[in-house]
Amino acid sequence: MSSQTHTEQAARAAPYPLVARATCPAGSRVRIGNVEVGGDGFTVIAGPCAVENEAQIHATAQAVATAGAHLLRGGAYKPRTSPYSFQGLGQRGLELLAEAGRAAGLPVVTEVLSADDVKQVARHADVLQVGARNMQNFALLKRLGRIGKPVLLKRGLAATIEEWLFAAEYIVQAGNPAVILCERGIRSFETATRNTLDLNAVAVLKQWTHLPVLVDPSHGTGRRALVAALARAAVAVGADGVMIEVHPEPEQALSDGEQSLDTAEFATLMHDLACLVSLVGRRLSAMAQAAQGEPDLERDRQRIDRLDEALARLLHERVRIALHLGRRKRAAGLPLKVPERETEVLRRVAALSGGSLPEESVQRVFRVIMDETLAAEHAGP
Ligand code: PEP
Ligand code: MN
Repeated sequence: MSSQTHTEQAARAAPYPLVARATCPAGSRVRIGNVEVGGDGFTVIAGPCAVENEAQIHATAQAVATAGAHLLRGGAYKPRTSPYSFQGLGQRGLELLAEAGRAAGLPVVTEVLSADDVKQVARHADVLQVGARNMQNFALLKRLGRIGKPVLLKRGLAATIEEWLFAAEYIVQAGNPAVILCERGIRSFETATRNTLDLNAVAVLKQWTHLPVLVDPSHGTGRRALVAALARAAVAVGADGVMIEVHPEPEQALSDGEQSLDTAEFATLMHDLACLVSLVGRRLSAMAQAAQGEPDLERDRQRIDRLDEALARLLHERVRIALHLGRRKRAAGLPLKVPERETEVLRRVAALSGGSLPEESVQRVFRVIMDETLAAEHAGP
């Protein structure tokens, strides 16, 4: 059987054929302006739970853009558990969000609560978010299938992964292939955290669907002190990005302040994520890399120190493996130096240079690493 036929059969066999992994084994990508969600890129969405006023959303937008976020989030229509809680600024909130996004150069994501609101929200948003409480609002899903903008579909509070994929299938079947999933924690018996962030689901989804998967550790934990740890875990488990609630003054926030990072905490998290994504073979999208940040000598030195430490540990690990390999080569009577292999290594690392240094410079650095390693192999037992 040709692999094409096999793929088609597998796609037909899945109960959700349009979003099944077999339909697009390489994984689908969703484009939002200059940003691409999925593929090698790791996407960071950041912003307040709710748009509260002009100053708040502008300050947040500038800060998260400077730190390297790719998209700005902010609720204008808030699905609050209590009818007495702040419900969002509505239309005015949409306008403020869109303005803040434009000023900061970031596309914007915001929640749409009902099918009737889709048109209005789509006028201002680059991505329309379906909240956890609406994951099975089928009228809303079908309506979103007919807009030409990406949809961020959050997992229901108590939805199985299969139910979630059926919800995504509704949107794609209605004509909109640009769907991004977002794990935001599920209800469990555990009371230590607001929800239980189900990172299993990310690993499962990577097998079952081709859609990009983001993780929301803010709602997933409900606690500011836990957000960074779970965001880092999202990188390790293979998520395509994270959505983080950020507020310039979390203690003053009108909603979800207890789970919002302040802007400095977010900047630190971005730095950690930038290191981690490169270790799992990904990269932060171009905009994040281009972000300059405010000059802060001490902070930048600390960042460089931590990168140097990571490089030194990686170098140690590389040499350890090479020495082991060298001993086996010697036992087998094989030469320690293999020029073709070295050329291949230099070609590969040059291709990953990322443009900050010329390819030849990167190759010179690796030439030294290989020569020093070889010397250690010759000197070794
Ligand atoms: C949100 O992202 O602001 C939100 C309300 O999340 P959820 O629907 O996951 O509760
Ligand atoms: Mn929130």
